[in-house]
Amino acid sequence: MTELPARRLLLVHAHPDDESINNGATMARYAAEGARVTLVTCTLGERGEVIPPELRHLTGAALGEHRLRELTDAMAALGVGDFRLLGGVGRYGDSGMMGMADNDDPGCFWQAAVDEAATALAEVILEVRPQVVVAYDDNGGYGHPDHIQAHRVALRAVDFAAGAEAGGGWSVPKVYYNRVPRSVAETAFDRLREELPTLPFGKSAAVADVPGVVDDDRITTAIDGTAYAPAKAAAMRAHATQIEVAPGERYFALSNELAQPLFTTEYYELVRGEPVRDSGPGAQNRETDLFAGVEAGNEEVA
Ligand SMILES: [Zn+2]
Repeated sequence: MTELPARRLLLVHAHPDDESINNGATMARYAAEGARVTLVTCTLGERGEVIPPELRHLTGAALGEHRLRELTDAMAALGVGDFRLLGGVGRYGDSGMMGMADNDDPGCFWQAAVDEAATALAEVILEVRPQVVVAYDDNGGYGHPDHIQAHRVALRAVDFAAGAEAGGGWSVPKVYYNRVPRSVAETAFDRLREELPTLPFGKSAAVADVPGVVDDDRITTAIDGTAYAPAKAAAMRAHATQIEVAPGERYFALSNELAQPLFTTEYYELVRGEPVRDSGPGAQNRETDLFAGVEAGNEEVA
């Protein structure tokens, strides 16, 4: 028998770098607090555009291999030891942006059978028994095929695990979507536009470029990761082919070179389970802990 840590968090992401951008502070915080943090990444992102000119020769499998090393470094920065590629390294290929011919590649994640991929993820859920799963919304946050597919696979895997007969199954008590409250995004972009002349990026992105932005009243949960801001920035820097973090670590850009705010409070919408809202000062009647209301127990598994 092995004893699992009392609190277990599983995150499902499409490409290496998504986890650090969306959840880097959350992951670092819970890892530091002794929770088991498990990341499942669905593809190696081998169709991503590369920022540093000296690395632009990397494409396809070579880029995938490089991005796996970046992911490894990012997880070291966050203190997360358990990260996996869905179905094993290289099982699912990056599908490219929506509408590209790459979407039709039979090996890409967009073409994967959702049930098969969800079966692979359900095995991880049954092993880890997370009380909290973090995923994207049904548009994948911003419409990228791999993000949409990651949403479908994550939600189906949660259902498969609950219905699994082996080991009695595992019902995940809380499932969240990655979110950013619209007012937070708007305020951050206002400040960004003022500070743009001091940044190494020529132009600002817009609120619409940020995945997962919704009206504030949909936000159930805010995780203050301010104390882990340096870890998040280091993790994002580790994804150097994809992300450039500005000095000061409050802004970053992707390969489109448009400046975006780097959020160190990370936001979520609880979509399965009951929110346990915090009525304390500054909490805005949101949850301040993903595990709020969850009975944490040291499960024994064979
Ligand atoms: Zn992505």
